[in-house]
Formats: sequence, structure tokens, C-alpha cells
Amino acid sequence: MSDQTKKTVIVTGASSGIGQGIAIAFGKQGANVVVNYYGDEKGAQFTLDEIIKAGGQGFIHQADVSKEQEVIGLFEKTKEKYQDLDVLINNAGIQKDSAFAHMSLDEWNKVISTNLTGQFLCAREAIKQFEHKTTVQAHEVAKGSIIFISSVHDLIPWAGHVNYASSKGGVLMLMKSLALEVAPKKIRVNAISPGAIATDINEEVWSDEEKRKELIKLIPYQRIGEPEDVAKVAVWLAHEDSDYITGTTIYVDGGMTLYPGFVDNG
Ligand code: NAD
Repeated sequence: MSDQTKKTVIVTGASSGIGQGIAIAFGKQGANVVVNYYGDEKGAQFTLDEIIKAGGQGFIHQADVSKEQEVIGLFEKTKEKYQDLDVLINNAGIQKDSAFAHMSLDEWNKVISTNLTGQFLCAREAIKQFEHKTTVQAHEVAKGSIIFISSVHDLIPWAGHVNYASSKGGVLMLMKSLALEVAPKKIRVNAISPGAIATDINEEVWSDEEKRKELIKLIPYQRIGEPEDVAKVAVWLAHEDSDYITGTTIYVDGGMTLYPGFVDNG
């Protein structure tokens, strides 16, 4: 695989976890990486320091992906600094868990507006920039690529997390419908759906021995994933080596979507 030198990549929610891992992985490829963050400026600065250490460049930019004007600002700033955008990693996401009958409208709205509306707003701004790109591709490859970070819960129902699973189910159709719409414009749109990856979002599960054991039972490959497991796939999926792939979801889940309960019960 050739490197991604000089590619410009926006990673949303890049101050921690999977977004941080992906941003650093693109830094190692020599890319310009825009490190979007929400509240954790120190985390974002750490990500940027690692990118620079690895040979990439970039800047940190605060924006709430659910706020239209803040998203527009993020993309304008990127254009100002690097001119042409090549890749959007639509990663920012949250969980607000609750039994369904007790789920507040606020818990529903917060999750949908970050995980689904936020990914819509960022994808829309990316598409606008891809359509107006000034540099001409050296050969016939995509002029832009969007990768949605979804979840195995775009497929696996999740009791007690109906808002989250609904948002990720929405992302699946957002990704596929958009891929269909923009393929003739030579823009690629795909998703990565992680299984259980050890990050802040699920720390209370993987840091507790008993809960960790229960979780491993759901993973045929018998280990919890790391952000790097997702990051390596994101780098490849944004690269021209995967140029003929669009509208697809790659499940990076150690087999979690294989119905593990059927392993000895068929
Ligand atoms: P994380 O909590 O470490 O990362 C989420 C990031 O999104 C944080 O940096 C947070 O600040 C940011 N964020 C939250 N709201 C935001 C907003 N309004 N605007 C901008 N940024 C915002 O957890 P993670 O596991 O790295 O999650 C990243 C993505 O991966 C999420 O979309 C999550 O749903 C998805 N995912 C994670 C797992 C897992 O097991 N960790 C599994 C499946 C999917």
C-alpha cells in the first residue's frame, strides 16, 4: 500500500478512543489531520502531538457535531488551511442508556442528534467540499471518501439502549443511501461497525472483571478490541487500494455478529 502523504482527513470526536486511534494512524501515514473535539482539549492536544511525532500534521478544532454552524465552521477552517478535503471519518458518538419506559426525551434527542444528525451534518459538508475540489486526481480514483463509524448495533438489537441502536440503524441507511447518490460523482461512502472496543464509552464494562468475562462470551475471537484494530481498517478503507468499495459496512468485531450463542447450540 502506498502512503497517504498529504491527504487531508477530518476525524470527529478525535480526543479519545477510536477517533484518537484513527487520527494517529493517519498521522503515521503523513496525512494532514484535523482533530475535532467536543470538550476534552487536552485529549485533542495529545492526539495532535502524537500525529506530529509520527510525521503528520494537523490542528485541533472544537465543534459540537450536532450544531449546524459549528460543523460548517469546522469544514471552513479545514478548507482555509488545507484547501481540499480527502477523507471524513464520521466518528463522534455517545451513549445515554435507560430502560425504555424511563427514557427521557432528552436522552433520546441527545443520542440521535450526536450519532445520527451529527453524522448527517458532517457528511453534507464533506460532500459539498468533494464536489468543488480544485485538485485533479492523477488517475481514476475517488475524489473523496466518507467513513461512518457505526456499531454492531446497526444490526444487533440492544435492550436498554434503544436510542443508541436506533441511531446506528439510521446511520446504516444514511450511509447506503448517500453512497448510492454520490457514487456517480466518484465519491465513496462506507461504514465501519466496531464490536466491543476498549474506550471511555464502555469503560465500566471492560474494567470490571466479571462484566469483562460476560462480554468475552459474546466475542468468538475471545478478546476485546483496541482502537488500533479499527484504525488500521479505516486507513485501508480511505486508501485507493479499496477504491472499488462503496456502500459497504465492515464489521470489526471479532465475530460478534456471528450469533455466538449458536456456537454449541445448533
Ligand atoms: P469515546 O467516548 O472515547 O469517543 C467518543 C468521542 O466523541 C469523544 O471524544 C467525545 O468527546 C466525542 N463527542 C461526543 N459528543 C460529541 C459532539 N456532540 N461533538 C463532537 N464530538 C463529540 O468512545 P469510542 O468508543 O471511541 O466511540 C467512538 C465511536 O465508535 C462512537 O460513534 C461509538 O458509537 C462507536 N462505537 C464504539 C464502540 C466501542 O466498543 N467502543 C463500539 C461500536 C461503536
